[in-house]
Amino acid sequence: MPTEHCAICGSATSFDATVHVMLNPSYAEGVDDYYVCRGCHEDHLVDLFVYPDEPDQWDAPTG
Ligand SMILES: [Zn+2]
Repeated sequence: MPTEHCAICGSATSFDATVHVMLNPSYAEGVDDYYVCRGCHEDHLVDLFVYPDEPDQWDAPTG
């Protein structure tokens, strides 16, 4: 089974359990991509992207 090394904690993680993270800064050329394990994703990344608790705001206009 293929494994990737988590870019945060370095542990070998089965590919099925990785999270693919891409960084594409518009001020720089190129794209950096990383694989992180699920634990690091939940511990470090999920909280970075907190959505407002107002789901209506994200609905596409229907009108
Ligand atoms: Zn990790």
